[in-house]
Amino acid sequence: MKQRILELLPKTDCQMCGMTCTDFADFLLSGDLTPQECPTLQEDAYTVQREALAELLAQLAARAKTGHLIDRDKCSGCGICLIVCEYNAANDSESRQGKGPYAGAKVVLRIINGRVVLADETLCTRLLQAADKCSKCQDHCPTQAIVLV
Ligand code: SF4
Ligand code: SF4
Ligand code: SF4
Repeated sequence: MKQRILELLPKTDCQMCGMTCTDFADFLLSGDLTPQECPTLQEDAYTVQREALAELLAQLAARAKTGHLIDRDKCSGCGICLIVCEYNAANDSESRQGKGPYAGAKVVLRIINGRVVLADETLCTRLLQAADKCSKCQDHCPTQAIVLV
């Protein structure tokens, strides 16, 4: 994971952050620094990398809470995970019928632009379960796009 983070940094070792890019990647991984603390990354030339890094770090933060790691490149957008999700099934009637979720619904998983996103990990029932945690989204995904760690 550190390597993936490092790949998204400018890798100039300019030391404007007070260290090398490799050390900065360590601090990003631990959560002790944020991408905003790399001045070089804020330059327009690094917009794509900056956005990709923000998405990766957001995924890591969510995974720390629920165990989800989503590979959006593998996702076909089929929506099966939304339908089988324990929270969605219990709380969102549209999802239960295989239709939803509607725009304002509180849901764990949502499809945006044809790919699944963790819309609100704080609703995932895994946060409340000490044992035998739900893994339905992972178990039913036909492309192994969702991994629970
Ligand atoms: S400021 Fe950014 S580009 Fe420069 S060394 Fe630190 S992490 Fe690398
Ligand atoms: S682990 Fe269960 S509750 Fe959490 S998102 Fe997946 S299916 Fe929904
Ligand atoms: S994560 Fe899997 S089950 Fe969910 S929409 Fe993507 S491909 Fe379908």
